[in-house]
Amino acid sequence: MDEVLSIAIQKTGRLSEKSLDLIRDAGIRFLSDSRVLKERALNYPVEFFFVRDDDIPMYVANGVADIGFVGKNEVEERRQDLEVIRDLSFGACRLSIAVPNDFEYKSLKSLEGKRIATSYPNILSDYLDKNRVKAELVYVAGSVEITVQAGIADAICDLVSTGTTLRMNGLVEAEAIYYSSAVIVSRKGFLEEKSEKAKILNGLLERLDALSAARGKKYVIFNLPSDKVDMAAKIVGALKSPTVTPLVDKSWVSVQSVVAEDDFWRVFENLRKIGAEGILVMNIEKMTE
Ligand code: ATP
Ligand code: ZN
Repeated sequence: MDEVLSIAIQKTGRLSEKSLDLIRDAGIRFLSDSRVLKERALNYPVEFFFVRDDDIPMYVANGVADIGFVGKNEVEERRQDLEVIRDLSFGACRLSIAVPNDFEYKSLKSLEGKRIATSYPNILSDYLDKNRVKAELVYVAGSVEITVQAGIADAICDLVSTGTTLRMNGLVEAEAIYYSSAVIVSRKGFLEEKSEKAKILNGLLERLDALSAARGKKYVIFNLPSDKVDMAAKIVGALKSPTVTPLVDKSWVSVQSVVAEDDFWRVFENLRKIGAEGILVMNIEKMTE
């Protein structure tokens, strides 16, 4: 029997489509519309295990699944013995304390003795303990934002990305206590095992890493006075020297290079300073080193 790597993915919700998109971009095909509990990929030795995101840390820790695509917030909250093996570029949010509009919030101390509703009691109680604030936690599994209006809490601690849900419920964000995004988790040490499954995982990660390498990069083209080429090369810091093409006007050249997206604005400002003109920035779809 050939080994198959089992991947836990949220069945429906904020992370499910983006997790599957990533797997699709890695060239793995599957019957995406069925979403039965377990499904084998068509052209790669992996199977998907579609579950609630809250349960993913437990399933991976127990070995029911080998890896999981899940929010770091769930990993932190569930206290399972897991290893985060990759950070993914989606699912960004923060766990925040929010209070009703008329609550006079000055600092965390304003919550002393108050009732705070949350689905994240472990993360919240650690944060309150660390800041020496004593509050009463009210555990709710979902719809945390309605608990103040419902009269069972004075404040809430919930996931926020844009803040729209808070506003719609008469709440304001008071303090962010934990920042999260989607990650891939495995049981501890799994990547280093000499097993067939670990080999499959390493192959999958290699594809995902290639995708994220291209994702973080932009292609820039600009015109530059010829005598500034050496300076431009230092600014863009290309692995190999940037491509330089002559222009009709001999005192100018056109320069092309790949630039890290995170670094783009620094590069842009410095190129402007040395006289670069007509800076053109383009997305890169796929890339090899
Ligand atoms: P399930 O039925 O799987 O338990 P859920 O309602 O708990 O679903 P979602 O609301 O789909 O889950 O959120 C899944 C994950 O998406 C969160 O744990 C978090 O990591 C991430 N996330 C990103 N932005 C937000 C947000 N604004 N609110 C809630 N979660 C967010
Ligand atoms: Zn959930």
